[in-house]
Amino acid sequence: MPLTLEQLNSASHADAALMLDGLYEHSPWIAEQALAQRPFTSLAHLKHAMCEVLAHAGRDAQLGLIRAHPELAGKAMVSKTLTAESTNEQTKAGLTDCTPDEFAKIQKLNADYNAKFGWPFILAVRGPRGVGYNKQQIIDAFERRLHGHPEFELAECLRNIHRIVEIRLNDKFGVEPTLGHQVWDWQEKLAKHSDPGFAEAGQLTVTYLTDAHRACAQRITHNMRDCGFDEVYTDAVGNVVGRYHPATAGDKYLLTGSHYDTVRNGGKYDGRLGIFVPMACVQQLHQQGQRLPFGIEVVAFAEEEGQRYKATFLGSGALIGDFKPEWLDQQDADGITMRAAMQHAGLCVDDIPKIQRDPAQYLGFVEVHIEQGPVLNEVNIPLGVVSSINGSVRYLCEVMGTASHAGTTPMDRRRDAACAVAELAQARGNVTWIRDMLPTEEVRVILCAATVFVCPSVYEPLGIVNLEAMACETAVVASAVGGIPEVVVDGVTGTLVPFTPESVTGFEHAFADAVNAMAADPSRAKAMGKAGRERAVADFGWRIVCCQLLTSNQGFLWSLSRDSPSIFLPLSGLPNLM
Ligand SMILES: [Zn+2]
Repeated sequence: MPLTLEQLNSASHADAALMLDGLYEHSPWIAEQALAQRPFTSLAHLKHAMCEVLAHAGRDAQLGLIRAHPELAGKAMVSKTLTAESTNEQTKAGLTDCTPDEFAKIQKLNADYNAKFGWPFILAVRGPRGVGYNKQQIIDAFERRLHGHPEFELAECLRNIHRIVEIRLNDKFGVEPTLGHQVWDWQEKLAKHSDPGFAEAGQLTVTYLTDAHRACAQRITHNMRDCGFDEVYTDAVGNVVGRYHPATAGDKYLLTGSHYDTVRNGGKYDGRLGIFVPMACVQQLHQQGQRLPFGIEVVAFAEEEGQRYKATFLGSGALIGDFKPEWLDQQDADGITMRAAMQHAGLCVDDIPKIQRDPAQYLGFVEVHIEQGPVLNEVNIPLGVVSSINGSVRYLCEVMGTASHAGTTPMDRRRDAACAVAELAQARGNVTWIRDMLPTEEVRVILCAATVFVCPSVYEPLGIVNLEAMACETAVVASAVGGIPEVVVDGVTGTLVPFTPESVTGFEHAFADAVNAMAADPSRAKAMGKAGRERAVADFGWRIVCCQLLTSNQGFLWSLSRDSPSIFLPLSGLPNLM
């Protein structure tokens, strides 16, 4: 017989502790301390109480908990000294049934992991859906996490322990989150559709009105019908709309929903969670033959991410009458206009104005959305209510510095653009002063690394043109959006790489190499100069707009710009930058 919360709440402390025995393996103190917070109003309440006990127990206690866990397919399994719970879990994952090769591999991973972190690898082998990982998935996770940062790994182990406990707790109390599983399974199925080029790589990318996108719309339509919505249709921009009628005809509707398109290599739950959660609610209402004093209208928005066309939020925009007709003439990367794509999908462009909603018919709009951030995870709660959200404004600007003699220019006279951008990156959340200075909303902070200080004895013989070219040849252009560095263009390989300390270091080496190569061979410098300039224009679409010697031996000012006219930020105007 499964336990009930009532039994747990009314039992003596000792009996209640016995009920929770085995949850945290060999560390019963966590559940025991949490019992001080009885009565629990829900299992989630109990889980949270236990998480809190561990969170406040300090690092030594946390490490002790992790170390008290057995290794996966380790000695304890072989000698059959695992707890009953662990035996059950490791058997289900097939770990008790390894081939000698697999066993040897896991032993090596165990040893390497322990040597690196000083504690055993912990994985909730029943996984997020509860059906369990197979051996290969476990080995893959093991190999991936072996490369993690120790602090992250510690937290990851604790998260996995809490997940193990959650599953054990559900078992004890006979609870199965069937609706959650239903939502999960819908999302897994929908994620099978992905645009060509991404599907092959196992990545999820669904952009506006592609085959995958239309397949998703089709799937959502079917799911909505199965759930018992009264009306299901696709509107003029490709939104899939499901309406569940109110108890009394003519009553208002609650509008909800989210988007089913994705960014490139996006997540399965971004947007889609906000479609499937209300769908599960309607399914339940329908199964129970219940009608509410208001209708429910779920809109699966066709577009929010602006990946195929630069028309973000066109799905929801159309609902508020904000669809811009000029968007229809935009072309995608293959030259297909939005109008043509919509016609190809059988959408009626002329009907777009008709889908604008009348606010008087609605109670309001709510949206369930996956957090995509660390906060809920860190506080160990499954759900939060958003009270405010950030809006982003993007800027495109350039910071110019001055190259100067590294050995003789005093620090307070240096004008290094790299430092300025570093300051910008630090100024997160405090960028009003940047905004105030700039003439356009589209401002991107660009670090032109050509302003790295180089020694005149190296560059003077080369001439300024070559210096500029050298910069192009090795240019690293880091762009920062909202103060957070995003990508770096590696001028050597011409590829975009994420902005990391490594990518910048890599650039520095390339830059140093280029300086040395040019100093050693002026003819190469000339050739590189031409190639570099052409490449800057052709590959990156950058235009060299300014290159000028400030003084005979005091460096240069230069800048690359994608869009003219470029914006020059006077360095003197940037407070506290230098
Ligand atoms: Zn989203």
